[in-house]
Amino acid sequence: MQNYLTPNFSFAPMIPERALGSRVWDIGGREYIDLSGGIAVNALGHCHPDLVAALAEQSQKLWHISNIYTTQPAQDLAKKLVENTFADKVFFCNSGAEANEAALKLARKHGRDRFGENKHEIVACLNSFHGRTLFTVSVGGQPKYSQDYAPLPQGIRHVPFNDVEALKAAVGGQTCAVIIEPIQGESGILPATREYLEAAREMCDRHGALLIFDEVQTGMGHTGKLFAYEHYGVVPDILSSAKALGGGFPIGAILTTDQIASTFGPGTHGSTFGGNPMACAVGSRAFDIINAPETLAHVETQGKKLQTALAALGKKTGVFEEIRGMGLLIGCVLAGPYKGRAGEITAAALKHGLMVLVAGANVVRLAPSLLLSDEDMEEGLKRLEAALEGWLEANH
Ligand SMILES: *Cc1c(COP(=O)(O)O)cnc(C)c1O
Repeated sequence: MQNYLTPNFSFAPMIPERALGSRVWDIGGREYIDLSGGIAVNALGHCHPDLVAALAEQSQKLWHISNIYTTQPAQDLAKKLVENTFADKVFFCNSGAEANEAALKLARKHGRDRFGENKHEIVACLNSFHGRTLFTVSVGGQPKYSQDYAPLPQGIRHVPFNDVEALKAAVGGQTCAVIIEPIQGESGILPATREYLEAAREMCDRHGALLIFDEVQTGMGHTGKLFAYEHYGVVPDILSSAKALGGGFPIGAILTTDQIASTFGPGTHGSTFGGNPMACAVGSRAFDIINAPETLAHVETQGKKLQTALAALGKKTGVFEEIRGMGLLIGCVLAGPYKGRAGEITAAALKHGLMVLVAGANVVRLAPSLLLSDEDMEEGLKRLEAALEGWLEANH
């Protein structure tokens, strides 16, 4: 197939055409088990009938109207997010990067309005990932994503993840926000420690800074709770969400309190598409299914099963030295001799009819549908085992 797209993506050698649940078929009709979930997006698998119905129904009513107006679907989804979290207000946008951009802008303005322009510094973690806009690549802790785009936004400080002392040393009177992924996703499915998030909360309270949790990847049920912060008992001031929020339809959001939200007065921030009725109608239906106790319980059960099976497979083949993560957001850490080769494993898996992800070069990542069945899990594990054995043999 001729590629007319810019070469910033290196596409896999198969071309998907249609999908249902945790199965995908390519243009040649070959079937794959999908344990990647479109990078933690398709939380209810592909083409969930309730989401298809919500989309079809809304598409007959109203597609787009702009933020000159509010709509029932936007208010419905916001109400559900508010009633099930710490938050009082929601801002909708279209992606994770936009959500973090809004969170960071809100924190800067909040600091400036209350304490003056010196209160602008953002503290972020090394190896973190917050999106691809200029501000979010600058705040993200991976220079490879920002260095080619200098000059970069200023007033950003990076500290090692999970290092309480370094965090305490970095947060001060000029800090307007600390931004943390409760589980670092792109850089390896690395959970924060409870002490770290508690220290971040305490430092923010002490210095009048806002605590931002980037839950773009960890949110919407992937860890077995609606949002990962609930596992830690540490409540942020702003939470960003996207990825699974729309169950496959593009949408992003930030959640915050009334007091902080009031910083965003009329005209201070905006979005043409943000909160559009199509995205919100699908997101609203997805929310109901994801937040149902039986779905979250299923995530916990299936997460345990999958993590246990992966640990056994890691031991048997010697390829994985550790399985980490929460619920169905899982990282398989490559053992010593295989470090740096996660990409080869995802390629081998694809050849065996299995879609998995990398999270950095040392971790194979799984973020399957929250509704993953035993049958699909077992078939996926069978294909992974065959892929690992074939790959090991070829690399003898
Ligand atoms: C994917 C991701 C983003 C960026 O989301 P986009 O929708 O690609 O802009 C931001 N933060 C985290 C933690 C992510 O995993």
